[in-house]
Amino acid sequence: MPDQIPATDGSEPVPHMSTDEFRSAGRDTVDFLAGYLDGFRTDAPDSRPGPTVAPGEVYASLPSSPPAEGEPFEAILADVERLLVPGLTNWQHPGFYGFFPADSSPPSVLGELVSAGLGQQGMLWSTSPACTELEMLVLDWLAEAAGLPDRFRSGGPGGGVIQDSASSSSLCAILAARDRAGGAEALPTLRIYTSEQAHSSIEKDVLVAGFARHQLRSVPGDDAFAMDADALAAMVAADVADGHVPCLVAATVGTTSSGAVDPVSAICDVAGPVGAWVHVDSAWAGAATVCPEHRHLLDGLDRVDSYCFNPHKWLLTNFDCSAFYLADVQPLHDSLSIVPEYLRNTASDAGAVVDYRDWQVPLGRRFRALKLWFVMRSYGVEGLRAHIRAHVAAAADLAARVEANPRLELAAPLSLSLVCLRHVDGDDATEALMAAVNASGRAFCTHTKLADRYVMRVAVGGTWTTAAHVADLADLLDDLA
Ligand code: PLP
Repeated sequence: MPDQIPATDGSEPVPHMSTDEFRSAGRDTVDFLAGYLDGFRTDAPDSRPGPTVAPGEVYASLPSSPPAEGEPFEAILADVERLLVPGLTNWQHPGFYGFFPADSSPPSVLGELVSAGLGQQGMLWSTSPACTELEMLVLDWLAEAAGLPDRFRSGGPGGGVIQDSASSSSLCAILAARDRAGGAEALPTLRIYTSEQAHSSIEKDVLVAGFARHQLRSVPGDDAFAMDADALAAMVAADVADGHVPCLVAATVGTTSSGAVDPVSAICDVAGPVGAWVHVDSAWAGAATVCPEHRHLLDGLDRVDSYCFNPHKWLLTNFDCSAFYLADVQPLHDSLSIVPEYLRNTASDAGAVVDYRDWQVPLGRRFRALKLWFVMRSYGVEGLRAHIRAHVAAAADLAARVEANPRLELAAPLSLSLVCLRHVDGDDATEALMAAVNASGRAFCTHTKLADRYVMRVAVGGTWTTAAHVADLADLLDDLA
């Protein structure tokens, strides 16, 4: 630790932790986190995936004002355990099946720690060459591991960048498409299309990008809840006939409610002739294409403008890490690049480097590539495949158990590791079943609606979730249905 500068004005020096205290507190922190995970792995009696506190309980348990003097680190860490852990929703618990997984893993956490400790700002190549170049490399690695088309690799017009979330990735796609189609002047004429089943982030992004709500067209789905490409074609043709300009189609590969897969090739057939940008949101399902047997999910991807999937969902890399790939980054730069004098430097001026600040809305950026690099090196591509395959197989077993139970039925076709089910007695019975599952403390699930009917979703995919945990959930459903 650098020497502290002694105060010359009679005030006390800033009370930093010493290097030795930092080492010791760091060990204690990792010990605490390992113990937190052990609590799930040993089936401790009070270990539950879902939240148990009432609204306001955590806030009320904490001091209402900050301490005037610094406190010992042990006291802070002890309060995390005593006051905060009981108020957690335990996303890393093997019985957590809500929403989509938010996988963390030990190598990822350690990569995050190293990122924080190195304290880099990666907005420009020159503000951290290693941060920029590792991100380029690790996204090329990820593109190779996931079988993505070469056009998304660095070195040509395209490339990848880590965004904080899929919402930010699709916002960037929408901003680039908006400006490529004429920007502010053309804005009132522009139209955007997405399916009724698209994630709500698309609608939010469209509004953030300055469009009015009516400029977003909601394309109906087919029987499997995927976008109906014929309906899209009809909507686009009607809009063109009315003098509107189709600006972007946002397709989803692996929808949030049911894991449905929009027909990307057919969508490109519609979007291509009218010059609309095609963005593919594969936030959750994209992780599965590390397995060659799931690469059909990439059909048509060699024709789209941008693609995103989240290693922070199902690929062992803790939030935030959304991989956003563009076939050509120039339109995004045209939208987002503003160069004030204080950010100018020789390398950027020479056009010799990637400056990731032009690939995102904020200026500053963290060294997120580290945790993905730690994960890819620790697990290897085969380890990542094993992770996906274990969950896909466990979900298939669960779906078979649901189909074998006369009181239950699948509410949508099984998609990868997402099982959507309902009780044959109707919405109230499905809702009651899910409440009973969650109250058991053995599993935690969340719901959606499909075709206006209440559906219980089981998103298998937690880092520590094994076939045995999923079989336990199947037993629970049999008992409670
Ligand atoms: N797109 C899809 C298909 C999703 O399922 C989700 C979240 O579950 C999102 C986008 C939003 O992801 P993020 O939280 O990374 O913005």
